[in-house]
Amino acid sequence: MPFKLPDLPYQQNELEPAISERTIQFHYGKHHQTYVDKVNDLIKGTEFEDASLETIVKESDGGIFNNGAQVWNHSFYFKSLSPSGGGEPQDKLARAIEREWGSFADFRGEFSKAAASLFGSGWVWLTADDKGVLDIIQESNAGNPLRRGLNPVLTLDVWEHAYYLDYQNKRPDYINSFWKVVDWPLVAERYAGIAG
Ligand code: MN
Repeated sequence: MPFKLPDLPYQQNELEPAISERTIQFHYGKHHQTYVDKVNDLIKGTEFEDASLETIVKESDGGIFNNGAQVWNHSFYFKSLSPSGGGEPQDKLARAIEREWGSFADFRGEFSKAAASLFGSGWVWLTADDKGVLDIIQESNAGNPLRRGLNPVLTLDVWEHAYYLDYQNKRPDYINSFWKVVDWPLVAERYAGIAG
């Protein structure tokens, strides 16, 4: 079964003004779709032909990894956003963040700094280990923390294609806008699933 581009849980213009319809049209409609098409093409006739996307992320290399992980990463990223997003998480995730960084504002500052300082293309991740301990991780290119045995909780795409149409070279402005559309109830539910 070939992989498919997952549906977005919102209309393409609904994240405006944080992320424009035009950016979603290219980022989701072109870039994400191209990674889907490429990985489907590359796995033909290989040991990964019938593998799950998670297995591809964890075990493959080269072009299969690059395109497969980009499919996984983008699906996770787009799903974490919502037109009614923003604010702060509640409950277990809020307490885990306070444990690690003191406050949500301090966490947000550290995550934003990691996103702004990542050189070149990549992803910044909020991860949890199997005990629920949180960390902020920078990954270059298609990097994904599943390869380090960590559970992804939230991610921010800092490839230029994620923000250039809206913010040109001003990555920090894109990072500020990202916080206005994070779907914290969904992210907190994800974390609760990891940390039991
Ligand atoms: Mn991207």
